[in-house]
Amino acid sequence: MPGKSAAKRVSGESKSVPKKVSKTTVKVKKSGIVDKENKPAKKDKSSKPLLNNNPVSSNRDIIKTQTMTKVLNGSLAPKRTGKIYVGYHASSAGGVHNAILQSREVGAEAMALFLRPQRTWSAPPLKPEVVDQWHSLLTSHGLSPHLILPHGSYLLNLGSPEASQRDKSVEVLVDELQRCQDLGILLFNIHPGSSCGKISREECIKNIAQGINIAHSRTSGGRVKVVLENMSCQGHTIGGDLRELRQIIDLVEDKARVGVCLDTCHAMAAGYDLSSEVGFDKLLEDFESMVGWEWLVGCHLNDSKGPAGCHRDRHEKIGQGCIGVEGFRRIVNSPHFTDIPLILETPLDEELGNKGYLEEIELLQSLIDS
Ligand SMILES: [Zn+2]
Ligand SMILES: [Zn+2]
Repeated sequence: MPGKSAAKRVSGESKSVPKKVSKTTVKVKKSGIVDKENKPAKKDKSSKPLLNNNPVSSNRDIIKTQTMTKVLNGSLAPKRTGKIYVGYHASSAGGVHNAILQSREVGAEAMALFLRPQRTWSAPPLKPEVVDQWHSLLTSHGLSPHLILPHGSYLLNLGSPEASQRDKSVEVLVDELQRCQDLGILLFNIHPGSSCGKISREECIKNIAQGINIAHSRTSGGRVKVVLENMSCQGHTIGGDLRELRQIIDLVEDKARVGVCLDTCHAMAAGYDLSSEVGFDKLLEDFESMVGWEWLVGCHLNDSKGPAGCHRDRHEKIGQGCIGVEGFRRIVNSPHFTDIPLILETPLDEELGNKGYLEEIELLQSLIDS
């Protein structure tokens, strides 16, 4: 039920947040509602870059900079609550609406799902009756669109060195974005792409941005954000270095339709030791300086089987991997992770099945400072 397990509130004064960040986020009322004057700025809906170096508009830049220092993240919530919302990647077997039913079973307050088969290039269209069921279940479950973060096909590689692969990837992305629109979904998560070791990273980044621009233009009038997930530095994937996410964003024309999802396992594998306060603070600092909190619209909460810097994408249940319970305590008490979907992509419990996610959700909620 919405609100039930979100009753615990994030204080907004997490000791683990670097000073320069916490300074901007301390004004959280007792009610847990972020004070209006301290509310993160509504993000630029214009297509202009958020940061500009134009010395002529210095006054405006100062104001913009001041406003930006108050940004916690790029949540699309109609109203900030200062709470965390945890869910898991639910199965959409038998129809996307089934993911809502599963999420409801474990009291999840956010959700991820696949909108089409993940390992095939072609997919049948969404059935109208499934779309209808989706909308009615969404209403009864009370799940807000800003807390739903579907995951894109694993086949998709917008950065591919092969033009034919890029074209196919754009086709799939357009189809996925249209599905999002039909379902009233605002966010769509993808892995940025891979150079496959055949082109430079710069070229790959340009391909990715170009693919997103084409997909945007082919779904013009839509408002679904393409959400770029950070990667684990495995192979030739783009996005393990956080700066690459920003480089893609800088090349995307419609800035209102792009965002970032932070995967904790991938960050750990890429070198941020989230088991330690130092490592967590380093991630916060780097995310702020290399990407910018205004772009963060979702998070994948996964523990990591491998240690920091292992460059291997191997998810583990919360608290049972190298990040550990204390690592997640810092995360759920950081205001940067409030009002966005926090999605578990952890291994399915062999005995409990989906109910295993209930335990993980409860564990995470128990870590929130009261
Ligand atoms: Zn992913
Ligand atoms: Zn992920």
